[in-house]
Amino acid sequence: MQNKQIQVNLKDAEDVKCESCENLYFKPVFRIKRISPLISPNGKEAFVPVQLLACTSCGHINKDMGE
Ligand SMILES: [Zn+2]
Repeated sequence: MQNKQIQVNLKDAEDVKCESCENLYFKPVFRIKRISPLISPNGKEAFVPVQLLACTSCGHINKDMGE
């Protein structure tokens, strides 16, 4: 097996803007998913954090960076 390295020049990459206010900066935020005991593998309630990126200016979460 060979390790293929993908070279990406970040200067050529496009900045992602907030869909709401066009801000360029984002911060990690967490949504917590509650796993019901009925569907949990061990039969116990569980909480699973899901990380999303929110705009630092208005708090908007872009659709393509959400679920
Ligand atoms: Zn924003």
